[in-house]
Amino acid sequence: MHFLDTPIAYLKGVGPMRADLLNKELNIFTFSDLLTYYPFRYTDRSKLHKISSLNTEMPYIQLKGRIIRFEEKGQKRSKRLIAHFQDESGITELIWFKGIRWIKQAVKLNTDYLVFGKPSVFQNSINIVHPEIDVIDSKEVGKSPLQPVYHSSEKLSAKGLNSKGIHKLLKELLPQIIGKIDETLSDNILSRLVLPNKEEALMNIHNPKGLKSLERAQKRLKFEELFFLQFHLLKMKLSRTKKLKGFEISTLGKSFNTYYDEILQFELTNAQKKVLKEIRADVKKRVQMNRLLQGDVGSGKTLVALLSILMVVDNNYQACMMAPTEILAQQHFNNLSADLSKLNVKIALLTGSIKNKERKILLEELENGAIDILIGTHALLEDSVVFKNLGFVVIDEQHRFGVAQRAKLWKKNTIPPHILVMTATPIPRTLSMTLYGDLDVSVIGELPPGRKEVKTLWRSDSSRLRVNKFMREQIEIGRQIYVVYPLIQESEKLDYKDLMDGYKAILGEFPMPDFQVSVVHGRMKAEDKEYEMKRFVDGITNIMVATTVIEVGVDVPNASVMLIESAERFGLSQLHQLRGRVGRGAEQSYCILLSGHKISNEGKIRLETMASTNDGFKISEVDLKLRGPGDMMGTRQSGMLNFKIADLIKDGKILAYARKEAENLLEEDDGLVKAENINFARAYKPYAKERIGWSRIS
Ligand code: ADP
Ligand code: MG
Repeated sequence: MHFLDTPIAYLKGVGPMRADLLNKELNIFTFSDLLTYYPFRYTDRSKLHKISSLNTEMPYIQLKGRIIRFEEKGQKRSKRLIAHFQDESGITELIWFKGIRWIKQAVKLNTDYLVFGKPSVFQNSINIVHPEIDVIDSKEVGKSPLQPVYHSSEKLSAKGLNSKGIHKLLKELLPQIIGKIDETLSDNILSRLVLPNKEEALMNIHNPKGLKSLERAQKRLKFEELFFLQFHLLKMKLSRTKKLKGFEISTLGKSFNTYYDEILQFELTNAQKKVLKEIRADVKKRVQMNRLLQGDVGSGKTLVALLSILMVVDNNYQACMMAPTEILAQQHFNNLSADLSKLNVKIALLTGSIKNKERKILLEELENGAIDILIGTHALLEDSVVFKNLGFVVIDEQHRFGVAQRAKLWKKNTIPPHILVMTATPIPRTLSMTLYGDLDVSVIGELPPGRKEVKTLWRSDSSRLRVNKFMREQIEIGRQIYVVYPLIQESEKLDYKDLMDGYKAILGEFPMPDFQVSVVHGRMKAEDKEYEMKRFVDGITNIMVATTVIEVGVDVPNASVMLIESAERFGLSQLHQLRGRVGRGAEQSYCILLSGHKISNEGKIRLETMASTNDGFKISEVDLKLRGPGDMMGTRQSGMLNFKIADLIKDGKILAYARKEAENLLEEDDGLVKAENINFARAYKPYAKERIGWSRIS
């Protein structure tokens, strides 16, 4: 057994009981686990602040002074302990809501202490809640001013394993690891990137000699973590392309050419051409394509998908396209059928509401190959849907589908079809490189020419009269308007009430017969929804009141106003999607965000962001910062985003060169047989083994 695999119970100062707690609370089972349990921040003990200078903008700071008096306030749950803490500049309050008895016993009055914490405001005065308190230890003088801080838990703290207790264990362990840490990166990389070796990095991450050494240690460990992951993802991609055969789509045929030369009304944008070339290059090789197409709303992804589909159909394969909602599937179907009416290509629509005889005939035609292109919703995934020869799958708005659902489409042919997943929710590069690291990524980075930027206005509820007037003006010049209400599952009942109240109010403001108003929401029957949608698409209704069912994909170029009610309740990517519903024609379009007055800080940031930029990538960066990667992608379970030290929000640069290095290494030595890569090869083996279930993201 390797020394580092020693069970944690054998470390001096641990023992069976604490070991059990470390297992359960922090997943620390071995020496190695403890060693890679990294601090989440450091306090700089070389700096002392004065009480008189405290403000709430400060991060964690350190004070030196004495407690002159304790005071308890409140009853039961709101009970709190207040310590009046004084230095030569003034007095402030330290507050505890928990562990009151213990603090009162352990902390002495009128004795010098160092206090760490973050200043906050409570009842109009500045104080520090649950500070760390330390005696001033003469032994510590001259030591590194940077003290690591570790996450602990209540249970661990109760057994002496608070942050300091954990650090103590590490101080016990660190001297023992000297000479026993295997290097995991090649000398090549270490010297090229000027990184410290692993042992030095581990020493310094837990016991920094100084700021420089700490930063070097962090960089090294972050790099290592990201490099391993990138290598792994790229390696999976490589083995997929080596192992899995794919259909060869070799020629551009009649449908493609006729469509391109005769039907298509406009020039493709350069970005569309580029992506089309990338797809063509992929499907020509006898390797399965697995490509993510990112492009902002309105950038013309559907057209790229359609041209690719025609390419495939010309080579006698079937294609299908899956959309997340019926409305969207229907719309794709309508558009494509119109576009393809002059071609000898049969296209069909399959959704949950197509039943009985119609469905039976459709499935037969699909199986005998009469249908070339099938558009649909989740209904496509069902086992009864059998293709004769499916060669190409497009998944629109892929983030709406789960991994398992997407994986089902792979199995619709003996050799997996080529896969193109499309998303209009741009993902920050750091995230896409991680989550989709084993996919090829194409980006449509420009909008078709002639589009005017949507003007976004953030207004409070009290501007409603002015907003109504504006709506009337827009309707008078022939435009159409969306009014969208939030619909959150947890408060669904209330939300429906809001929507219907709003609908009635709008009917009052915009009465028949001068105005026509539609309403669409998830509780309506499919055919009613469709009827109302169609009236809007055909320009019969002036205003469409809806929930977010219209969020994705719907395309009505004449709609020029998107009014979003209670906009503070929507997420950023949702707001961006909604805004993307307007600005599709040549007219100036507007997005009006209506909000109440009381909004959380995050809500404000979201609305300000929307008002200040139209760039989906910028918006997704903000979204990532607000929500963190796990929430944003809803893939917590995947494990791919659980880093020990790397941080996708902050470490974009390190990630970029980790990716680059991983690419290089794969190119030079994908089997890791060269002598210079022996360190990495040894460490990568168990790493890969732990991640066997990860493959196939699309
Ligand atoms: P996305 O799915 O990327 O949000 P769509 O494919 O729905 O965008 O395209 C938005 C609109 O732009 C559609 O009406 C489409 O016909 C049009 N469009 C697509 N490509 C071009 C182009 N190159 N020039 C002009 N209009 C285009
Ligand atoms: Mg689309």
